[in-house]
Formats: sequence, structure tokens, C-alpha cells
Amino acid sequence: MKKRIRNTSISFLLVVSIILPLSILLPSIGRSAGEQTDFKVTLLGTGSPILSTARSGPATLVEVGNEKLLFDAGRGTALQLYKANMLPGSVDKLFLTHLHSDHTVGIPDVWLTGSLPTGGKRAQAFNIWGPKGTEKMMLHMNKAFKADLDARDSSGNGNDEGASIVTNDIKEGVVYKQKGIEVIAFKVDHKSIEPAFGYRVNYKGHSVVISGDTRYNENLIQYAKGADVVIHEVAAARPDNESEAISNILDLHTTPEEAGKVFSQIQPKLAVYSHIVLLGGLTEENADLPGRTKETYEGTVVVGEDLLSIEIGDKVQVLHPGKEANLGGK
Ligand SMILES: [Zn+2]
Ligand SMILES: [Zn+2]
Repeated sequence: MKKRIRNTSISFLLVVSIILPLSILLPSIGRSAGEQTDFKVTLLGTGSPILSTARSGPATLVEVGNEKLLFDAGRGTALQLYKANMLPGSVDKLFLTHLHSDHTVGIPDVWLTGSLPTGGKRAQAFNIWGPKGTEKMMLHMNKAFKADLDARDSSGNGNDEGASIVTNDIKEGVVYKQKGIEVIAFKVDHKSIEPAFGYRVNYKGHSVVISGDTRYNENLIQYAKGADVVIHEVAAARPDNESEAISNILDLHTTPEEAGKVFSQIQPKLAVYSHIVLLGGLTEENADLPGRTKETYEGTVVVGEDLLSIEIGDKVQVLHPGKEANLGGK
């Protein structure tokens, strides 16, 4: 189901509610084929609800062909795009894994700042794919920012098209297919909120999988088979943790040992951690995520950091922010 939410000076209107192949509804953008670097993933934010100045909220940018696909928009996403030399107005496609606030609080900044001339002035509507409830959330968000939208409209500084929203409440399966790019949503198990999705992006025989928030999940393993890169969430506490509150949080997520089991069955060229949740006094230094993962997985695992990027082609290359060196996968 695709819904268009458009701001007007009186109220916003639901203009269309149509079911058509997305390839008809969305614009096509061409680009010459064959370049390894036209499939690049950037971890904009590798954090979680835990406040951190080192890890921004969950957000992953997939630049593929001539498209920029944003997966989740947590705290600070617009700024992280800016740090990656991009204005939020250059993003018009957002895919949400689930509706926990740490994955959505950055939406208004990307959406609205991106509609302004200083934010890149998005040329077309802001498209959002997400689980049931996404359309409702965006309707309410549009209402929440009505004063701003109306004021900009009446002052003539508005950007109707770049501030308008098209929502797509999705089900498991192909949710976007255009110019050789295929985005597949698959169900994961986040226990506390339902549905929750992971995504797989296929392009020119290569692919990246983004787990979203999930416990150990067999469906993810099935959908991720053959993927070049798997970006997986991880949560860890001390092995001797006795806190029930911490155990309850761990129960919604995947421990490093469990993630290792996931990677072992997928055998990606590269496994990467993002959405890193460290609990009960664990720190980046003493968490030893690679060591704990090694107990169940022999391949390479990279602990993600904000603005780390991965180029996917016949080779997979990791570019650490501010460094030239590459740390390749297999
Ligand atoms: Zn989360
Ligand atoms: Zn969550």
C-alpha cells in the first residue's frame, strides 16, 4: 500500500492510495554499468538508544547505482550524512527496519532539513518503506510539524515536493525494484515489537544484508544466504551478568556468540557489527566482541564505527573513516 501525504496551507491530504508496481511509480535514474564502486555501504550511525557521542543512532546508507538508499534514521542521521559529504536533500528513499524510536528519531531532521535550500532541497517526495504503522507515524509527524510546513509555504520559502511524503507499509518480499537494484524485506524476531524487518539489497550479482534489530533468527539466515556482506546487530553484557533487566534487553537482541552462529551459516565475505549495545559496565575496550564471536565463527568480523564504509564488488573493501588503508574480507 502506497500513500502520499502532502502538506498544504490548509491541511495535508491523502492524495492517492494506489497499488502499482513501484517501477512505474518511481523515477528511473540511469548510470553506466560495470564500476565496482557503484555499490557502497556507509555506517552512518552504529549506536543504539544508549546516549553516546562516539556512536550516532542507527542509520546505514547504501549507495547503489545512482541511488542513495537510507536504512533507518536514528539520532543524528542528518549530521552524519553531512559528515559523509552529503546533504539530507539528496536522500529521498528511507527503509525502516522497525518503529522503535532509536531508529526513527532522526527522520524529521532528514525529511525537513532536506527540503530546505540549505539542506539540499530535495527535488521529489520523501519515500518511506516500513512495517505496518509507518504510514500512521508519518501522518502524525506531518501534523506535528504543520506550523513549520505552513509557515514555509506562506512565506514562499517552502518546498512542497521535497517536504511531501510517500509512505509504503510493507510485507515480507521485494519492496523496491528498479534499474537492477532489488530491495527485499524479510521478517526478523525482535520480540518486543512486531513486525520487525531486515533488508537485503541485491545489485549486479552482489548483495548486502542489514539485520535490523533481532534475536538469533533462522529466517534472516535463509534470506542472507550468498550475501557478500552481512551487517548484524549485537548486544553484550558480562558473561556473569545476573541482572534481570539486562537479561531482558539481551533477550531482544543477538549476543556475539549467537551472531557467530549466524555468520557461520551464511558464510559472507565480510561480517560487520552495527547497532552495538554494551550493557552492565562493558566498554568498547573490554567487550572483546571479535574474541567472543570467534568462539562460533572463524571468518572476519569488523566491529563497525560511525562513517566506516564498505565497497562491494568482486572484492569487498573496508574503508575506515579518515584512513586510506583497506581491510578486505575474503
Ligand atoms: Zn534499536
Ligand atoms: Zn529495536
